[in-house]
Amino acid sequence: MSSAGRSWMDEAACLGYPDDYFFPDTPGIHGAKQRERAKAICLACPVIEKCRMYREATDSGWGVWAGEAYSTNSVSEGGPRRRSA
Ligand code: SF4
Repeated sequence: MSSAGRSWMDEAACLGYPDDYFFPDTPGIHGAKQRERAKAICLACPVIEKCRMYREATDSGWGVWAGEAYSTNSVSEGGPRRRSA
């Protein structure tokens, strides 16, 4: 996806939050708390629908996207909070 196709990420509510909120490496209850915190951030995000479409288009299957947690590990390029990585 081109950088122009990701301009919506500039409005993402998750910008500035730690990566591990959305991609918790910790299993169990601590990871679950991080995922719930991330999902709550998504609920206030003005670009949640664009995020959902982006996840589907890029087949990004791990982490929290658009208020949903995914557990398969097929992330190809990360989301808004990882774009500088
Ligand atoms: S993961 Fe998607 S919906 Fe959630 S805050 Fe970030 S851009 Fe918005």
